[in-house]
Amino acid sequence: MRDFKYYDDLYVENTYSRFDLSLVRGKGSYVYDENGKEYIDFNSGIAVNTFGVSDDGWKFAVEKQINLIQHSSNLYYTEPCALLAKTLCERTGAKKVFFSNSGAEANECAIKTARLWGEINKGKDNYGIVVFKNGFHGRTVTTLAATAQESFHRHFYPFTEGFYYADAGDIAGIKKLVKENGCAAVMLEFIQGEGGVVPMDKGFVKDLKSLCEEENILFIADEVQTGNGRTGTLYAFSQFGIVPDIMTTAKGLAGGLPLGATLFFGKAAGTLKAGLHGSTFGGNPVCCAAALSVIDRIDDALLKEVREKSEYIVKELSGAKGVVSVSGMGLMLGVETTCDAGKVINTCVGKGVLPIKAKNKIRLLPALNIPWDALEKGVSAIKEAIEENL
Ligand SMILES: *Cc1c(COP(=O)(O)O)cnc(C)c1O
Repeated sequence: MRDFKYYDDLYVENTYSRFDLSLVRGKGSYVYDENGKEYIDFNSGIAVNTFGVSDDGWKFAVEKQINLIQHSSNLYYTEPCALLAKTLCERTGAKKVFFSNSGAEANECAIKTARLWGEINKGKDNYGIVVFKNGFHGRTVTTLAATAQESFHRHFYPFTEGFYYADAGDIAGIKKLVKENGCAAVMLEFIQGEGGVVPMDKGFVKDLKSLCEEENILFIADEVQTGNGRTGTLYAFSQFGIVPDIMTTAKGLAGGLPLGATLFFGKAAGTLKAGLHGSTFGGNPVCCAAALSVIDRIDDALLKEVREKSEYIVKELSGAKGVVSVSGMGLMLGVETTCDAGKVINTCVGKGVLPIKAKNKIRLLPALNIPWDALEKGVSAIKEAIEENL
């Protein structure tokens, strides 16, 4: 029998450029490859493993539900789905939730809802959605259309129509797009994650929200990556001083199981009716039980720790040799260096630390409960790796 990586290269459609690495087990922020080499995990499976690997509380919740029933379909009620919806609404002020299985699907649901809302409230031709250059909203044909980055588009035309690309900060330009095109919504990430950990200006976000009120359109916040404690609050919108009409999330929601959620606030709630949207796996009881355990643990004490760990990383890395800037919020940070990010990351992997890339930056997304000693060891290894690549 050959090394299984050989079979992966041979039989799995080659859409990912993988590291020559396989993580087979772990505990918390420490993960191990098949040879037993230890790594400090600085990306949490791209912001998914909220409490790291093989966490006891998370496992307890998952195991408990697996021993009851793993799936029953959305034809029937399930307790984890109901209780998770209740928790999410109570913690955010949302009125309703739709569950799916991924970030792209959560955004598809937001887009369908905005189109329907536009038709009901503004008339049939008001389906346009303004999105922002350098954003990322998913890989389906429609969420790619919403992703205003040409590099994702080539080869896949034609796209779903009705998306208009704006520059963040350009309120006048956005207003013009809304007025000229019959729009139902704007959609944005508070921190463009895949775009290179680029935060939106808080003043701009407030102005954009005001514009949405004036023009009577929906404000859709894509919190697929920024959500679930990642930025130091349960969801990032509270730090921007606005409440969205629709918010989507996924990645860290179920701590390592696939679950997407689309939350409807105020005027957007109750738009979708029976038969207008659905998902076979959406709201799966095991995923919802996992998410319930994750959200319940994201309390003030944990969030305070996320912010303190963030401050520590920013303090250690800003001004370090070879570092140009550190962007982002909470434990979603991007480090721009004078050297090649990819090379620094490979050096880090050699040193047993696993950050990832976002555009030209080194992206740090450790578990929200990363222990202080692992954090300190990891950050000093990243510093060394940057110096070695200058
Ligand atoms: C990852 C991501 C998505 C896509 O999520 P998938 O689960 O891969 O479909 C959408 N929006 C943002 C902001 C993301 O970071």
